[in-house]
Amino acid sequence: MRTPAVALALLLSACASAPAVDTRAHAQELAQRYLILDGHIDVPYRLHAQRGGVVDDVGAATEGGDFDYPRAKAGGLDAPFMSIYTPAEDEAKGTSKQVAEELIDLVEGIARAHPDRFAIARTAAEVRATAAQGKIALLLGMENGSPIEGKLENLEHFYLRGVRYITLCHGQDNHICDSSYDKRHTHSGLTPFGREVVRRMNELGVMIDISHLGDDSLWQVLELSKAPVIASHSSLRFFTPGFERNMSDAMVRAMKQNGGVVQINFGSSFLTAAANQIGFQRVQELESYRASHNLSEDSQELKDYAARWDASHPFPFADVKDVADHIDRVVQLAGIDHVGLGSDFDGVGDSLPTGLKDVSMYPNLIAELLRRGYKGAAIEKICGLNVLRVMERCEAIARELQGASAR
Ligand SMILES: [Zn+2]
Repeated sequence: MRTPAVALALLLSACASAPAVDTRAHAQELAQRYLILDGHIDVPYRLHAQRGGVVDDVGAATEGGDFDYPRAKAGGLDAPFMSIYTPAEDEAKGTSKQVAEELIDLVEGIARAHPDRFAIARTAAEVRATAAQGKIALLLGMENGSPIEGKLENLEHFYLRGVRYITLCHGQDNHICDSSYDKRHTHSGLTPFGREVVRRMNELGVMIDISHLGDDSLWQVLELSKAPVIASHSSLRFFTPGFERNMSDAMVRAMKQNGGVVQINFGSSFLTAAANQIGFQRVQELESYRASHNLSEDSQELKDYAARWDASHPFPFADVKDVADHIDRVVQLAGIDHVGLGSDFDGVGDSLPTGLKDVSMYPNLIAELLRRGYKGAAIEKICGLNVLRVMERCEAIARELQGASAR
């Protein structure tokens, strides 16, 4: 027979564990019920890199990668922005537009191969309708404006192909603006053509994405844009001091004024100072080893060196709680209407946080938000409604601007 003390202990432990189980189940249920929109998933480039070999069919379970249909459904994901990413180097090579066309072809191929599972969406209304049918709405977000190649006709072309946001640059200054990763500050912000691009994006209803922009570029976009903007996959500089790729508190406050949304990047190096520093240290170490040994980027010797380096420098993975900390801070600075999700799945390698390793794990984040006291309506905004609001607002402003120019 149990002593009363043991019985009490069992009772207490049952009380302590019961809410945790309930929270997980509740989070799972909310993930399925609410529309989850993710601002940045690099599936197209993952598939592009596989060309010539076996290309993953993301309509079925895949061995690698962070995204496939079964895992997306398990995680409650409804509307991922498929990243139409072109590397900065392609601008000088003149291949950006061609690569972007191929990436869009790949996304269209996914929808064509699995019409019962995916559909490409071009408007907020199409996102809602597709999700209501139980399908995943594939949105197109162009990461790096290089494929515009200096012609507004190309911007219009990509709009017609379904692109609904453009990250104006990527890792280097380009013909549109300066990048946060490039210390040259070539144009001190937007180029004259970049200003034309911003105006035309407003007129077309293509959202401007300020992720990756250098500070000058970002502030100039906020001043110039007539429509709210997004940061499709950026976190907060407060937690990663000196990392210009993330947003400062002043920028987050300015997003409130602009009506835009900061979509938090899940990559560990975007979330904590420890992961941020070791990530840079690793890149520098590998690059200096590569250069001093005269190795190619994909040499086996470099891979072996990287493996040895990793074994002696365990990566300080962030946690799902860190993502929630970033969400909390945007809410403190700008309110609940200006935060969303921009995982960077398939784009940040294996640096993803514990508990958020792939698209099946959004419920873990929702559970953390529930534990922090977020209510359903707030969670629904974070999961997707905030960005849908920006999409709708951009569509409406485009109609107004087109009406004004027709009069
Ligand atoms: Zn990126």
